[in-house]
Amino acid sequence: MSLIVHKYGGTSMGSVERIQNVARRVAKWHAAGHQVVVVPSAMSGETNRLLGLAKEISPQPDARELDMLASTGEQASSSLLAMALMAQGVAARSYTGWQVPIRTDSSFTRARIRSIDDARIRGDLDAGRVVIVTGFQGVDDEGNITTLGRGGSDTSAVAVAAAMKAKECLIFTDVDGVYTTDPRVVPEARRMTVVSFEEMMEMASLGSKVLQIRSVEFAGKYHVPVRVLSSLTDPLIPVEEEMVSGTLITFEEDQKMEAAVVSGIAFSRDEAKVTLLAVPDTPGVAYSILGPVAAANIDVDMILQNQSVQGTTDFSFTVNRNDFARTLDLLKNQIGPAVGAGEIVSDDKVCKVSIVGIGMRSHVGVASLMFRTLSEEGINIQMISTSEIKTSVIINDKYMELAVRALHKAFGLDQDKSEEDKI
Ligand code: ADP
Ligand code: ASP
Ligand code: MG
Repeated sequence: MSLIVHKYGGTSMGSVERIQNVARRVAKWHAAGHQVVVVPSAMSGETNRLLGLAKEISPQPDARELDMLASTGEQASSSLLAMALMAQGVAARSYTGWQVPIRTDSSFTRARIRSIDDARIRGDLDAGRVVIVTGFQGVDDEGNITTLGRGGSDTSAVAVAAAMKAKECLIFTDVDGVYTTDPRVVPEARRMTVVSFEEMMEMASLGSKVLQIRSVEFAGKYHVPVRVLSSLTDPLIPVEEEMVSGTLITFEEDQKMEAAVVSGIAFSRDEAKVTLLAVPDTPGVAYSILGPVAAANIDVDMILQNQSVQGTTDFSFTVNRNDFARTLDLLKNQIGPAVGAGEIVSDDKVCKVSIVGIGMRSHVGVASLMFRTLSEEGINIQMISTSEIKTSVIINDKYMELAVRALHKAFGLDQDKSEEDKI
């Protein structure tokens, strides 16, 4: 008998029928002798609906109240799932994050989990119950409800699995695993049976929303085996079959994985670029620009400073599109005048496309194939950033899908490698 954590996303919990199917699947694992903790998301569309209501009341709603509101989506779906299990004759009990409690810091709308007290959950499991814990939320030291950022139920599930030393954390979602790129954008994308932890970190941080980045960080820190698999198959398929399906995130890299130079393509539309033109190129200028941006709690992603010409330089950086208006305001009213910039130009119609692969460490010419492919499609590269296992470019967002498809093909990700693997 082992302890398994299941997480079900919004689509998987999206209707009464789907919740009943989740209950059937959970009941099957329970009947097979496993202790099961389930972490559900809100029913699909519910979090957006709630946040939309808030925006109608106030353009910039209070963050604490936003969390009070948004956390209710998971409370509703969790209790419905408990009822569905009971209706199928399975003892179950649901808890919100604060009841467990899942303790977080006080950064409303993007809180981080600090600790989880599993005593209550253990008590129920020992009494033979399935335990359901709301995803996406916790409680801070002052007793305020907090939420973990969009997609945060993944992190709740992996954190519960880490705290309880679960055998595996199964992330059930509306695709049957992690693909070489988003299968909704590239139908030829292929499912990976395993993906290395490092590649998954990069994919998640570069925009593949199949897993929230924090959940992958937790998996790495506490060595939690995480598997991404489909919630849309027949809920009664044998447990033995289900437990080897989907994509396993592995901490072991083998030669086969390194042989695939590029394993995946990630992309993100949540990007915006700002440029200060003709900034006097003196020591400390980067700090004078980026210091106040950091102080305003705005995350900067890519940074580019040009060769100076006649003592001035152009300085560009990218931020999340949600922070674009704030960043521009800061640059125009405060930073630009302070550093004596000539002009401030901006573009919020950009996106980031990245190639990811641990094989990039040991192969040369990978980035140049990326640049050649984009140039053959007539796509202009505005910024480039590289690390050991990824290369990212900023391009006009109207070319995003074209770029992703072309790169997917150029790196042979649409080819079936299973035959080669057998050699
Ligand atoms: P859930 O509601 O279950 O948390 P999400 O919508 O957050 O589901 O994540 C699943 C979605 O992630 C898929 O429907 C797919 O469109 C998208 N996705 C993006 N990149 C990938 C990828 N590389 N592999 C699989 N899915 C991906
Ligand atoms: N319901 C939350 C969201 O939509 C959390 C999640 O689904 O993971 O972002
Ligand atoms: Mg998600």
